[in-house]
Amino acid sequence: MAIRSPIIVVLGHVDAGKTSLLDRIRNTSIINKEAGEMTQHIGATEVSIEVIKNISKTLLNIYKFELKIPSLLFIDTPGHEAFSNLRKRGGSVSDFAIIVVDILEGFQKQTYEAIEICKNLKIPFLIALNKIDRIDGWKPNNEKPFIETIKQQDQKVQAKLDEYVYNIVVKLYEFGFDSDRYDRIKDFRKQVAIIPLSARTGEGIPDLLLLISGLSQRFLEEKLKINVEGSGIGVILERKEEKGIGDVIDIILYDGRIKKGDKIAFLTRNGVKYAKIKSLLKPQNLTDIRFAKNKFNEINEVYAAAGIRIVADNLEDALPGSTIYVFNKDEELKDIENRLKADISDIIFNTDKEGIVVKSDTLGSLEVLTRLLKERNIPIKKADIGDIEKNDIDIALSMKEKNIEYAVIVGFNVRISKNAEDIVKNNNVKIIISDIIYDLAEKIDNYIKDIKSNKEKILGSLPVIGKIYVIENNVFRRSNPAIVGVEVLEGKIVKEVYLMNQSGRIVGKILAIQKEKRNLDYAYKKDKVAISIEDAIVGRNLFEKDILYTYITEKDYRTFKNYREILDEDQKNILKEIANIFRKENPSWGL
Ligand code: GDP
Repeated sequence: MAIRSPIIVVLGHVDAGKTSLLDRIRNTSIINKEAGEMTQHIGATEVSIEVIKNISKTLLNIYKFELKIPSLLFIDTPGHEAFSNLRKRGGSVSDFAIIVVDILEGFQKQTYEAIEICKNLKIPFLIALNKIDRIDGWKPNNEKPFIETIKQQDQKVQAKLDEYVYNIVVKLYEFGFDSDRYDRIKDFRKQVAIIPLSARTGEGIPDLLLLISGLSQRFLEEKLKINVEGSGIGVILERKEEKGIGDVIDIILYDGRIKKGDKIAFLTRNGVKYAKIKSLLKPQNLTDIRFAKNKFNEINEVYAAAGIRIVADNLEDALPGSTIYVFNKDEELKDIENRLKADISDIIFNTDKEGIVVKSDTLGSLEVLTRLLKERNIPIKKADIGDIEKNDIDIALSMKEKNIEYAVIVGFNVRISKNAEDIVKNNNVKIIISDIIYDLAEKIDNYIKDIKSNKEKILGSLPVIGKIYVIENNVFRRSNPAIVGVEVLEGKIVKEVYLMNQSGRIVGKILAIQKEKRNLDYAYKKDKVAISIEDAIVGRNLFEKDILYTYITEKDYRTFKNYREILDEDQKNILKEIANIFRKENPSWGL
């Protein structure tokens, strides 16, 4: 057993300083590292514990952590979209999140989202309160720990900083989190740490690195314990075709080890696939990772946690976001297959329920998107990976008949395929595409709300329609007005509406509806009520066991036809029967 490096992600609002912070951490690591240390990864940067000890010397004298983890592994791409591929069934591969907040801006839209994500996936996080150098009157002390540089600021500046911190404390409280400036926290299990820092001047970076190290080894020890000799488990971040090499996948290995020649299992859209590793690649260890782009070292094996590129045949359909398992004995395979299959059926599905169609580019983004939609109570009929195809549009069109608000196709990072374009043009199908997941969820939400309220408005303005049955032995009065017991078979009836019989002749106007001596305005399907009908005479134009319909004009009928899509099945049925009655005498009625 060994303790592996925690995997750290950086989240936060656009322009909060995520990229700058990661750059700063990378540079700090490069400058402070001993020559020859192998710390370059694919898609991630490793900051060794030696570097952290070195830059946090003064802090270590105060906090006295005994650092046991080997390093911190920072995922290079910040933000929600890349993060979505770091998925693991029921959670995330990332062990810890840094949520970057611009101190002058405070909480912004994506800050809230980042906190929601962490809360949902149970990822511990801290707040990097960035850009302290922008506080009026701030005197920079490059690369100093926060607790040193703060002492060298004027009282006014210190007070201002605390005001900003307090604003964050209040916001976090609204999420149910207790929090404080990190150097005032007594119990890190109970409070979220806020670290004021500057990605520009490097102030506060030592505090950040040390605190993450300390917190993750203290609170995540069980999760970080791995069997270094065990079969590797990782997640696919990306698949691509490399010139001269062929298909490769970039993975983050979070458990066990992976060797050249190992067999691996992973997900494709069509189920589980296997491959044998031809080579494992890591970037060359240059001083600046940006120059290391196309230069790789082949290595024979690697232990978690690591970012690594795998070269193998059979990788062309590998799904980003899929778990990847090393299996060396065939008897392990059944279990691995089952786990992978269960995972994909959680995310990619096509059910018969009512709902919208969701398409996305990767497993991770699809999972996040479907979760967001479910949180907003938006039902999903089909969720799948890939461009919007003819079949998706067919589903949306069939939905239009059933429930118009769900006749929507939602796409994240996908396009409308060529052969679907014409169908889209010829049919009025709503398609919402975006490359920001969170915008998408909001847009759909608003769209559905609009459609619903429109639908209600329109339905409210249409005449009431219903079909009723005159119950036998329930005549309470024969005329002036006639009072009979009826059952509503479909639709509804209302006072003042005219009734007609199955020959299209008007029987009379409903004067009142009563149930158990109470007067009602409406009666609905399955209600049994007594109604009084003006002008009706039982035995002359009204009979027991009659089927009656609400009377509508031809003009009313045409209006209904225009809103066909929002009518329910019962309404459609009644209208069809009414039209058939009139068409016996006038075949073109309502056409
Ligand atoms: P991201 O969108 O969250 O990745 O944000 P960036 O890292 O691209 O930063 C957005 C802007 O803020 C850039 O112009 C940065 O130079 C600036 N910035 C980032 N961190 C700091 C900081 O600590 N202090 C100051 N003054 N500017 C910063």
